[in-house]
Amino acid sequence: MRILVLNAGSSSLKFHLFEDEALLQRGEIERVSNMSDALAAAFLQLGDSPVDAVGHRIVHGGDRLFESTILTDDVIREIESVSALAPLHNPVNLEAWRAARARLPGVPHVAVFDTAFHHTLPPHAYVYGLPCEYLTEKRIRRYGFHGISHRYVSCRFAELQDKASAGLRLIICHLGNGCSVSAVSGGHSIDTSMGLTPLEGLIMGTRTGDIDAGAVLHLINNEKQDPAALAKTFNYESGLRGLSGVSSDMRDILAAAAAGDARAHLAVDAFCYRVRKYIGAYLAALNGADALIFTAGIGENSAEIRARICDGLDQLGIAIDSEANQSPRREDRQIGFSRTSVWVVATNEELLIARDTRRCILKS
Ligand code: AMP
Repeated sequence: MRILVLNAGSSSLKFHLFEDEALLQRGEIERVSNMSDALAAAFLQLGDSPVDAVGHRIVHGGDRLFESTILTDDVIREIESVSALAPLHNPVNLEAWRAARARLPGVPHVAVFDTAFHHTLPPHAYVYGLPCEYLTEKRIRRYGFHGISHRYVSCRFAELQDKASAGLRLIICHLGNGCSVSAVSGGHSIDTSMGLTPLEGLIMGTRTGDIDAGAVLHLINNEKQDPAALAKTFNYESGLRGLSGVSSDMRDILAAAAAGDARAHLAVDAFCYRVRKYIGAYLAALNGADALIFTAGIGENSAEIRARICDGLDQLGIAIDSEANQSPRREDRQIGFSRTSVWVVATNEELLIARDTRRCILKS
């Protein structure tokens, strides 16, 4: 089965063409003005490859869409109903679906949700300390994101161990442009750092991560900042970019810090400290972990950041082997041999979307 996987972002469209699990072709259309043009550009590269099904990454499935599913009118309505919770993502995901459906009307389209893996969070982990009508009537709760990556890595780790995921307790650090940590017990997510939206949790490339709700109120009420402008600041001008004043790319920030830039230094320290705090929290949530796993752009590629995050966690049973950590080997590997072992596992969200798409279609 030939499956086209589409991952639409605010300014780019990534596409991957699979024959079952084998990647045939991939590409990215950047600086996209609309998804129809982006898809037309993708098809110029794909030529006249036949496509049997399309798998779409949909960021927010809310609390009712928690399994990958064929996109029907009902499913679309449900995705639209939670789009206000992911205004930067869901509308553009749906725009890509509309463009793909217009181009490939005869093939099934499947939605794979970033929130779905975290559907297993227990209520004590997903509620905010708000009056309960906020949860029941306004659906204000923690949903979590990057679930496609966390699920892929959790399954891949079990495969590497040659074990079912049943007994495994894992802490997975997805550190890319967006960053999140999850606590996974027996293959199920039991906590994760992102919340109602992908703003909560770790300090990210351009996003704030955790911030006091009181600070937001203060900025609106006393500093008279406009909520729309604040949304832009929190999503695009904060995090590593805002703190360092250098860039949102960890490579640039590490280079600036090494050259003596104090703000870059602070950004790296704050980034690593926040990850360390979440690791501590999830060791408590899981009552100890079998493995701490790093994935995504920073997690897979930066030995320095991995070392700085794990530095000083030895009393909690986490230590990195510096030679293994710095090895240029690219494959999935163990880099710490402590009580909680430490690993680098490359994520592959597209492969998981292709697998789920195929499974949904075979099931239907
Ligand atoms: P992702 O969102 O997973 O594609 O990750 C992208 C981010 O990974 C980039 O913005 C960089 O900050 C980071 N990255 C990639 N390679 C490296 C590296 N060798 N060292 C540090 N950061 C890296």
